[in-house]
Amino acid sequence: MKGKLIIFSAPSGAGKTTIVRQLLERGLNLEFSVSATSRLPRPNELHGRDYYFLTLDEFKTRVAAGDFLEWEEVYSGIRYGTLKSEVDRICDAGKNVIFDVDVVGGLNIKTQFGEQALAIFVQPPSVEELLTRLKNRSTESEEKIAMRIAKAEHELSFAPQFDVIVVNDNLDKAVNEAEKLVRNFIS
Ligand code: ADP
Ligand code: 5GP
Repeated sequence: MKGKLIIFSAPSGAGKTTIVRQLLERGLNLEFSVSATSRLPRPNELHGRDYYFLTLDEFKTRVAAGDFLEWEEVYSGIRYGTLKSEVDRICDAGKNVIFDVDVVGGLNIKTQFGEQALAIFVQPPSVEELLTRLKNRSTESEEKIAMRIAKAEHELSFAPQFDVIVVNDNLDKAVNEAEKLVRNFIS
């Protein structure tokens, strides 16, 4: 049977990575689609687990080779993309694929896969809360945080185009709601 695709998209800091990590522990036969990126790894990130970290030149070579299902320059000079080989690998193993991608990439995957995909938008309580979360996460410089916040309003305007919106105010509540949606979709 063909695996199903579960897409999580949101502005940076909304909590999608946190939610996705928790869902992976809930016996849903999910595997994370490891994206490629041209940004540098954060101290806690591993190549092949969190991302495939490529140089910009390597990224461009893989684009030219047609290796990506989708890719975006999410922030100025920084590219992110989903490799076709990731989706094939996970589906061939009989699993469902879970994605953590930006709003444009998420809708792009949904358009390509239609009913085989569920596109979930993670909505933060407010842009102010996004700023607080990004500051607390302490992974980005002030300048990079400002770049992410500047994009957030625009990204929030994409929410109605998704299949469903999950508000991440209380984390446990959001994870439980997401789990129900995913369980329902894959059953
Ligand atoms: P994203 O992947 O959308 O950029 P993360 O999952 O990295 O976001 O979450 C951003 C930060 O906010 C992390 O430090 C995370 O622990 C925290 N966080 C996630 N959900 C909540 C929540 N409901 N309330 C408060 N903090 C949260
Ligand atoms: P971060 O640098 O915080 O890990 O990710 C920044 C943004 O890039 C997030 O919105 C994340 O979801 C997005 N992203 C990660 N991987 C991909 C991908 O493969 N494709 C697209 N379009 N966006 C991605």
